[in-house]
Amino acid sequence: MSTEITKDIICPQCGEAQKYRLYTSINGTDNPELKQQILNEELFNWRCQRCNYLADMAYPFIYTDTEKRYIICLSPMGTDNIEPPATFESYVKRTVKNLSELKEKILMFDQGFDDVAMELVKNALCGILKQTYKVNRIHAYFSRENEGELEFAIYLPGKSEAIYHSTREDVYEQSQEVLRALNYEEPKGFLKVDARLARRILEDYQNI
Ligand SMILES: [Zn+2]
Repeated sequence: MSTEITKDIICPQCGEAQKYRLYTSINGTDNPELKQQILNEELFNWRCQRCNYLADMAYPFIYTDTEKRYIICLSPMGTDNIEPPATFESYVKRTVKNLSELKEKILMFDQGFDDVAMELVKNALCGILKQTYKVNRIHAYFSRENEGELEFAIYLPGKSEAIYHSTREDVYEQSQEVLRALNYEEPKGFLKVDARLARRILEDYQNI
């Protein structure tokens, strides 16, 4: 089930008062069209009916996939602590802070990947690309699996257009090995699986 609410909004450009329909929760299994809006990164777009002003909104909401059994809490401020309902006990639970991260999780889980292992792959890839492009910060988002390779959208500092880089799928298998060697077990509740967690896991691995 998806939950939709209506809010009053005043266009920041022309001042026209309007209604804004937003979702506080989305079930991607039941609402593939809303899921597609997330994958197109359009879900938070609001367009003024009078002056055509386009705003990118951000608000907390919950995405669930009842078929693949995962639940993702989008928390733009990073402060919304949502208690997982008891019915989601056996679900994979994640917290993300924006639509790009949510999209990435959906793409990973839908293709059957473990996002923790995938963060280790991203860590390795970003390490190489930082040297290649001589930058100290890179954002990488999983995009797809293609002929035995994993493709990532890469954002370099100050660039809004992504460039695409692939890495061999055996890097993913090696990452799964690292997690097995550590007997990695997820804590309960909503977990933030990101570059920071990957660094922590790799530090632990070096100390074995
Ligand atoms: Zn307007």
